Amino acid sequence: MQPFYTQQQELLSNTVREFAANVVAPLAVEVDSEEKFPARQMEGLAELGLLGLSIDEAAGGGGGGYRDLMVVIEELGAVCGSTSTVYATHISLSAQTIAKFGDDGQLRRWIPDMAAGRRIGAFALTEPGTGSDALMLSTTAIRDGDDYVLNGTKHFITNAEAAEIFVVFVTHDRALRYRGISALVVERDTPGFAINPQHGKMGMRGSSTAELVFDDCRVPVANILGEEGQGYSIALKTLDSSRVSIAAQCVGLARGALDAATTYATQREAFGGPISDKQAIAFMLADMATEVDAARLMTFRAASLVDEGLPHGVESAMAKLYASEAAGRVAHKAVQIHGGTGYFRPAIVERIYRDQRVTEIYEGTSEIQRLVISRALIDAANG
Ligand SMILES: Cc1cc2nc3c(=O)[nH]c(=O)nc-3n(C[C@H](O)[C@H](O)[C@H](O)COP(=O)(O)OP(=O)(O)OC[C@H]3O[C@@H](n4cnc5c(N)ncnc54)[C@H](O)[C@@H]3O)c2cc1C
Repeated sequence: MQPFYTQQQELLSNTVREFAANVVAPLAVEVDSEEKFPARQMEGLAELGLLGLSIDEAAGGGGGGYRDLMVVIEELGAVCGSTSTVYATHISLSAQTIAKFGDDGQLRRWIPDMAAGRRIGAFALTEPGTGSDALMLSTTAIRDGDDYVLNGTKHFITNAEAAEIFVVFVTHDRALRYRGISALVVERDTPGFAINPQHGKMGMRGSSTAELVFDDCRVPVANILGEEGQGYSIALKTLDSSRVSIAAQCVGLARGALDAATTYATQREAFGGPISDKQAIAFMLADMATEVDAARLMTFRAASLVDEGLPHGVESAMAKLYASEAAGRVAHKAVQIHGGTGYFRPAIVERIYRDQRVTEIYEGTSEIQRLVISRALIDAANG
């Protein structure tokens, strides 16, 4: 257990670890091989009261903070990357955005259902024509009476096949650049809104990715989060905190790989004894454990800043950058320690090796995190 966990976090960690071992882990191979959305796992998390975690109770959420959320995401990530992605997207990208930027009526309408797991959330920023450069998004929302009329396409949207509530970023006028972007909530059955699954991912295969097509889709003006033109700022603020969830997921993936490699190294024999007796293997385990610990500490620092309401953009970018790349190095070593066994399914390290890869891409690539961190350094140096 971690010395910086509170008693409550320790209890939470034990509860989720048990749930992960009994419910999530046994289904992880099926989730991966069949690209199966982890619906049963989400139901179980709802029964544990964890689908509104970190969202204010006053807003209809389950209370608790980002540090608590990190505890849960790490435990899920250690056994099933897809489940941790689905869970993190539902809370930190979708429900949190509505809870933070919605008005009272919007909170009452959507948050209790989301916190109870009756409605799953998604977040739609990326488009075929633009990902990192979100300012260039081209899905339009033109006002017509009490509605906006949406036209355009989003892609790579996590949770889409199961989601009921979509936070969608649109532009009213591309010439206005960031001042023309808004965030709207679009409900699943809205006419003119189609969801086309995108299959064939390398990893996180159960996390259900889809294209969203808006064809003269009418969305009430009442569904706007904040005001017209605030969407770009809402997207950046959401990603600033949500990236901490990806960092926690990476801590989980790396810990899962480390645990499997440690067990394997003590059981597999070569040249007259367990391979863990060979210093080359033991030192790999030492480096892996050190990286897991460093990633967790950075993640907890960033989560603490979120909880305290302090600036956290640079720290969350650092945590995501370091934890995702550390998880890549750890997964690489874990496969190496498993030898040929680690190269075949259903070895957990084979799955983690694939699941980890996207953590360096989604919610801002590693290059974009380096951009955020270096800009802050250079701005500070320039006064
Ligand atoms: C499995 C999966 C799930 C996803 N889920 C969601 C989701 O739920 N919602 C959502 O909105 N999006 C989602 N995404 C999209 C994801 O956030 C984008 O793929 C990501 O932001 C990168 O955008 P892009 O793919 O368009 O790459 P591009 O932006 O085209 O980048 C291509 C390459 O150029 C580099 N690059 C771009 N700009 C710069 C720069 N200024 N300096 C240096 N290098 C640069 C990038 O780092 C990258 O290496 C998901 C993606 C995947 C793969």
